[in-house]
Amino acid sequence: MLKKILYSIWITIFLLFVVYTAKSTNFNTFLDSMENKTFDIRQNMIIKSKYKKANNDIVIIAIDDASYEYILDKYGEWPLPRDVYAKLIDYIEAQHPRSIAFDLMFVKSIKSAQNADETLINSFKKYKNLYTAMNLDNQSAELRVPIELPESLSVNVENYSKDIDFDSLSFLNCRAILPEIINTTKNIGMINVSRADDGIIRKMPVFLKYRGKYYPQLAFRLGMGLIAQEENYRPQQYIIDRNSNLLLNDRKIYIDDDGGVILNWYGPTGTYRQISMFRLIKAIEEGKKKAFNFRNKIVYFGTTASSLFDIKTTPVSKLYPGVEIQATYVNNLLDNNFITKVNKRVTICIGLILAAITGYLVMNIASAAAVTLSFVSMYSIYIAFTYFMMKYHNLWIGIVYPIILGIIIFISAFIVKYIIKSRDFEQQYLLATTDGLTELYNHRYFQEQMKMIVEQSKRYELPFSLIIVDIDYFKKFNDTFGHQAGDAVLRQVAQLLKQSVRATDIVCRYGGEEMSIILPNTAKEISFSTAQKICKRVAEKRFRLNNYQESNVTISLGVASFPEDGLTPSEIIDIADKRMYQSKKNGRNQVN
Ligand code: GH3
Ligand code: MG
Ligand code: MG
Repeated sequence: MLKKILYSIWITIFLLFVVYTAKSTNFNTFLDSMENKTFDIRQNMIIKSKYKKANNDIVIIAIDDASYEYILDKYGEWPLPRDVYAKLIDYIEAQHPRSIAFDLMFVKSIKSAQNADETLINSFKKYKNLYTAMNLDNQSAELRVPIELPESLSVNVENYSKDIDFDSLSFLNCRAILPEIINTTKNIGMINVSRADDGIIRKMPVFLKYRGKYYPQLAFRLGMGLIAQEENYRPQQYIIDRNSNLLLNDRKIYIDDDGGVILNWYGPTGTYRQISMFRLIKAIEEGKKKAFNFRNKIVYFGTTASSLFDIKTTPVSKLYPGVEIQATYVNNLLDNNFITKVNKRVTICIGLILAAITGYLVMNIASAAAVTLSFVSMYSIYIAFTYFMMKYHNLWIGIVYPIILGIIIFISAFIVKYIIKSRDFEQQYLLATTDGLTELYNHRYFQEQMKMIVEQSKRYELPFSLIIVDIDYFKKFNDTFGHQAGDAVLRQVAQLLKQSVRATDIVCRYGGEEMSIILPNTAKEISFSTAQKICKRVAEKRFRLNNYQESNVTISLGVASFPEDGLTPSEIIDIADKRMYQSKKNGRNQVN
């Protein structure tokens, strides 16, 4: 019974805690950031296991430190004159790549290189597999008037998910690129990224909102262009279903609440083949037509030079160039390899089940070591399970919530178990040392206490006394009023004895209707007068026998003291007993 009550109290407290934490945003944010860390650890382990293979067809033309230096040296400026890109495009296109994407923004040239810009614009007119970037922001309209973007750049999105909120991906302004490019191609995507609170990029936006319309992220635009070529799939509109999945042909891509897809990483920085841009420029100048193989490749231009400020932090590397993040994004899209985050409600359910098992184990396994071992093994297996689910099924199953729940239950179940145990112990001790009828200490306890007090009194040279009490004519009393009335009197006499002595005195039921009182540190005189006081009080009291009868009883008492009456328990008891019989002989209701 007690066990059940404690169990329910504990479950209630625990549920209140769950509700409370679910409401407290601060704590939630803290747990979410811990969960993100577990994601990072899993991702790093997965890339170390080399299970996932990056797409070999993705090639990065890197504007690295060496290329940057080369460019400054050769052209004297950054950004480079755009006709250089036009030449690079022509060179690569000669080998029929699948696409060429620029993770670079061709904003209006401030330099007098109009012709150079023109050449690049012509490339966009000529090749339909060129992609480039633009960026949305919230710059004030006073500083930069927001422009109208052509219809062809936006996409139709039907969002049936209640969880996804595009608010954080809605922008008021945009950093436009050369208007001729905007009006020439629809292959323009936004290069906005989604940073978590800790600054790490785990997700990338799919659609961004500007003036009420959706615009795709660059990598998504590029990936969809490739899917259009390879799978002949060109959706007129994008549908996000109730479960936050973007439906693309046979793909279901999970979009997280903030509108981002969760990237699945293939390796640390340097996973994709990289060619320094200056080597390409040199190859062109030297007329080497096939210095690099671009046939069927997906070519991505981007900066990797630290001085060009496009270095980001990802779960797998502290310094990760933006262009490699884009490449990973495209790779995920082509392989249908994004991470699906398991719903928080499901995670909490898993957590509750594990917690219930934990509670059961703690309550039912006696050995603390065995319980701890099974607790640790169960959660280790769970963590391993979440790792393999991420590795083989791209599922992000929460670790932090279930573990926190588990630890809380583990600790509280131990506390409950301890309380129950100590209560049981207390109860058993009480049963073993007291008498049920009078609630006085029992005979066995009396004997133990006698031994102890004799030893203590000897060691500290202190006196102690023993009073033995016997009710007078009790046999007759029982015969007259019945055994139940006798019991009632016994209880009341016991009560009166307890009330008449000090808290440190030990009142016991010696046997039958005989009781004894051990008075530690009390010499003869005081114990004798205490006995007299008790004798008088009993004689004066009206005892209730039942609901309608009262009666008087008297007692006879014998007092013995240590050390004068004896030096062992039995000697002292013997003398007290004898003196009690003396009181009987002398006419009862008295002390001897
Ligand atoms: P006295 O002590 O004055 O010589 O006479 P007495 O009648 O009390 O004699 P004795 O002490 O020999 O008898 C004890 C009686 O106490 C016997 C029994 O009926 C009664 N008694 C002992 N234990 C209990 C008990 O637990 N409940 C009740 N109702 N009576 C008890
Ligand atoms: Mg007796
Ligand atoms: Mg008696």
